Amino acid sequence: MACRHVVNSSSKIFAFGADVKPAAFVEDGDEVVFETLDCFSNQIRTSEDKLENLNWSEVNPATGPVFVNGAKPGNVLEVEILDIEIDNQGVVATGKGLGPLGERFNRFYTKIVKIENGNAKFNNLELPIEPMIGVIGVAPEEGSVNCGTPGPHGGNMDTRYIKKGAKVLLPVFVEGGLLALGDLHALMGDGEVCGTGIEVAGKVVTRVSVRKDINLKNPMIVSEGNVFTIVSAKTLDEAVKSAVSEMVNFVGKHSNTGFEELVMLFSIVGHTEISQIVDPLVTARFRTPMNVLLKLGMPQDLF
Ligand code: CA
Ligand code: ZN
Repeated sequence: MACRHVVNSSSKIFAFGADVKPAAFVEDGDEVVFETLDCFSNQIRTSEDKLENLNWSEVNPATGPVFVNGAKPGNVLEVEILDIEIDNQGVVATGKGLGPLGERFNRFYTKIVKIENGNAKFNNLELPIEPMIGVIGVAPEEGSVNCGTPGPHGGNMDTRYIKKGAKVLLPVFVEGGLLALGDLHALMGDGEVCGTGIEVAGKVVTRVSVRKDINLKNPMIVSEGNVFTIVSAKTLDEAVKSAVSEMVNFVGKHSNTGFEELVMLFSIVGHTEISQIVDPLVTARFRTPMNVLLKLGMPQDLF
């Protein structure tokens, strides 16, 4: 019988690592609710709260980590995003040094954005929200990685398809996986060009399972009828190359399709996309429609 666990935001980490004490121990198939602070640890609540005065040691918290019994190195942790609830206000921030236009600012700017009836109010614009998870990951293969940096372990991938209904597949590197998540956005565009989305506190309901039928080196996502490989690297060139390569390898392994066939197929039905270009490593993703993968003979239960 699957249980439901609640991990509140006082159980938080600022770096993913094997040495962090678990906030909860759960079984394969359990539901886990993560209550999360925003990426500034909720330090910016009014237009008087300035980025200049921020306690930067409290930036990018993730709630957790959760030890999933039975998850072993080489397995994959499947995290189904069953629901995301967000607070009724969020914050957007930018300024000096942040994002591709950061050199055109000489100070920081923040904007409080109220969220009402499914819309975010940016000045007098009402923008339909699409809540997503910025940071979701497990302990990395070695050492620790701060929650602001993405990588093979997941982390700060800032990928807008990590939303309600998605499955996030993360390679497990250490016993129990040590799953943590946070950094919700009410809305964010690909690239995250000012350095943030609408940063917001909230609550994520997940179901976690241990997968032994697949093997991954980097995160994979199933969302809105698409399968994505996600790779973070120093440059977009490197990230794109690896994301395409990971997709070809995965589909090649689980279908009877040759390498050159797949490269040609993905050139006509696959899409190279950018998740974010503002974190210490940038993140690219390669998207393929799941219906095409199923027609290649890949088993439905892989996804
Ligand atoms: Ca982020
Ligand atoms: Zn964020």
